[in-house]
Amino acid sequence: MAAKTVAGEAQQVKVAIDLIELGARLQLLQEETSLSRERLLRLYKEIKCESPSKGMLPYSTDWFMSWQPNIHSSLFMDIYQFLVKNAGIDGVQALITAYRLYLDQVQGIEDAEPVLSITRAWFLIRFFKAEMLQLVPCKECGGHFIAHTDDLHDHYICGICHPPARAGKTKAFKQISIAAAQAA
Ligand SMILES: [Zn+2]
Repeated sequence: MAAKTVAGEAQQVKVAIDLIELGARLQLLQEETSLSRERLLRLYKEIKCESPSKGMLPYSTDWFMSWQPNIHSSLFMDIYQFLVKNAGIDGVQALITAYRLYLDQVQGIEDAEPVLSITRAWFLIRFFKAEMLQLVPCKECGGHFIAHTDDLHDHYICGICHPPARAGKTKAFKQISIAAAQAA
């Protein structure tokens, strides 16, 4: 990611600002831009009016398997893969665009809150590239959902078709389910 020209540098700053506004953690900014840690810290404080979190990054693939995160993440991944395939974008730009579209989808639904953070979305893309996770079709609805690559998926049924007992009753859940099924 070269930033040797003024225009290149401006582009890097723009990417960093987009990511910070979407809630990205500092480590993500350092990996996805060529700006120094000091500049990123300054930029972060300027935009967020606070220092970035120093907590651990969410490394685990297990989070993506639990019911609601799986539906949200599958929706994001469907959007991301569609963009990479059809819109000719890749890398950090695809992450930013797909994440914005994911937020749009969720925010268009009454009572629904985004569950997937951009930092988790970034990890999700990495887990797919490392072939630790994949999309598998649900044998009931035909939608595609995130699953571990090393599990058997011959009879996979998604969290929308078979929600846990505590779910399924809220309006927000039903509507995000519809959004996920349409995106798939
Ligand atoms: Zn299903």
